[in-house]
Amino acid sequence: MDTELLANLLEEHFSSDALKYDEPMSMHTTFGIGGPADFFVSVSSVEDIRRACNIARTANAPWHVIGAGSDLLIADAGLRGLVIHLGEHFADISIDGTTLHAQAGASNEAVANAALEAGLTGYEFACGIPGSIGGAAIMNAGAYEGEFAHVCTGVNCLDSHGDVIEVSASEADWSYRHSMMSDRGYIVLDATLQLVPWNKEQIRERMDDLQERRASKQPLELGSAGSTFKRPIGYYAGKLIQDAGMRGHTRGGAQVSTKHCGFVVNMGSASAQDVRNVIDDVQKAVLADSGVHLEPEVRMWGFED
Ligand SMILES: Cc1cc2nc3c(=O)[nH]c(=O)nc-3n(C[C@H](O)[C@H](O)[C@H](O)COP(=O)(O)OP(=O)(O)OC[C@H]3O[C@@H](n4cnc5c(N)ncnc54)[C@H](O)[C@@H]3O)c2cc1C
Repeated sequence: MDTELLANLLEEHFSSDALKYDEPMSMHTTFGIGGPADFFVSVSSVEDIRRACNIARTANAPWHVIGAGSDLLIADAGLRGLVIHLGEHFADISIDGTTLHAQAGASNEAVANAALEAGLTGYEFACGIPGSIGGAAIMNAGAYEGEFAHVCTGVNCLDSHGDVIEVSASEADWSYRHSMMSDRGYIVLDATLQLVPWNKEQIRERMDDLQERRASKQPLELGSAGSTFKRPIGYYAGKLIQDAGMRGHTRGGAQVSTKHCGFVVNMGSASAQDVRNVIDDVQKAVLADSGVHLEPEVRMWGFED
C-alpha cells in the first residue's frame, strides 16, 4: 500500500468533512469496539463511491465498505487502508405509489417509518434491525418471519469495474444471510421495495409489537452485533449455547448475554479480542456438548487470522 499516495489522492478529492484519519471504528460499530481505520470517508454520491474505490486501487490499498456497523467486529488494531462509509449522507428515501426507493445508507428504521407514513406494509419486520439498506441487501436481513428478499424487487450496485449494474431479485439469489452481491463483492447503492397499502394504525401496532418483543428478549441496552452466530440447520444457536453451560460466560469485558445466549455483548469495556475469545470459547463448548459447529454471523475484520 502506498500510504502517501492514498492520502494525497483522498485529500485532493474529498473535503475535510468527509475524510477522516485514524478514525476510531468503535464510533461506527454497534459493539462500540474497534481500533482506528487509517482513512475513513463518508460518501454522499455514487461518484464519491466510485472515486474512493479507484483511489484505493491506485494506491494498492485495502478497502472496506460499511453501513451502520451493526454486524461487525473490528480488531483492536483497527483497519489498514480505507473505510468507505455509506450512511446518513447517502440515505434518500422516496415513495411512488406502492414502490419505495432507498439509498444504501438509509437505516431500516427510517425506511420502515417512511413506509408507515405512506400507509404501506411489508417492512415492519426490519424496524428494529439497526442496520442500513445496503447491509440488509447484502446479507438478506430478516426477523419475525420477514426478510429483505420478500419485499425487494431489485438493487443497483457498483461492480468491481466501477460500473453501475441492476440486479433483479432473482439474480440477487438471496438465501439465509447470503446474497450474490456479497459473493461478488458488489457495493449496493440502492434498493427498490414493493410494498402493499394497509391501515397506518395497524402498521404502527405491528411495529410497536415487534419492538416490544425485541426489547423483552434482547440485551438492547448493551453493545453487540445482534445474533453472534448463524442459526445452524435444525437448531437454535442460543439454546445450544445455553445447553453447553455458556450463559454469562465472560472474558474481560465481553460476555455471553444472560438475557439472550445468542448475543455476545460488550459489558462496557470489552476489547475486540475479549469478544473474539468469548466467540472461540462458545464454539469449542458447543462443539464438545452437541457436536454442532457454530458459524459466526458477525463479520470479523482486521484480525491476524
Ligand atoms: C441489537 C441488534 C439486533 C439485530 N437484529 C437482527 C435481526 O433481527 N436480523 C438480522 O438479519 N440482523 C440483525 N442484526 C444484525 C445487523 O443489524 C444486520 O446484519 C444488518 O443488516 C447489518 O447492516 P449494516 O448496515 O449495519 O452493515 P455493516 O455492519 O456496516 O456491514 C456488514 C456487512 O455488510 C457489508 N455492507 C454494508 N453495506 C453495504 C453496501 N452498501 N454494499 C455492500 N456491502 C455492504 C459490509 O461490507 C459488511 O460485510 C442485529 C444487530 C444488532 C446490533
